[in-house]
Amino acid sequence: MSNECKKCLLYEAGEKVTSGEIEAYINTLPQDIKADNDTFLNRISFCKRCDYLISGMCRKCGCYVEVRARIKSNNCPDVNNRKW
Ligand code: SF4
Repeated sequence: MSNECKKCLLYEAGEKVTSGEIEAYINTLPQDIKADNDTFLNRISFCKRCDYLISGMCRKCGCYVEVRARIKSNNCPDVNNRKW
């Protein structure tokens, strides 16, 4: 069974979530768990070129990539080809 997110539920589709809401959520995270800006931008640059990115979400894990990439301890969920 594949671990790709099929986006089969509305809340998973993310169409109602705005970038402002994502940013507001990121702002609630403790500073010490956040990746620094250079790390974040480097991670996002890989996501922007990745076929799994759709509407700000990663189809491998169902996360919003701007949230996933902002958390220091996270990594790319594509276990067979991690980009970051
Ligand atoms: S987290 Fe990894 S698999 Fe997901 S969109 Fe970014 S680069 Fe692609």
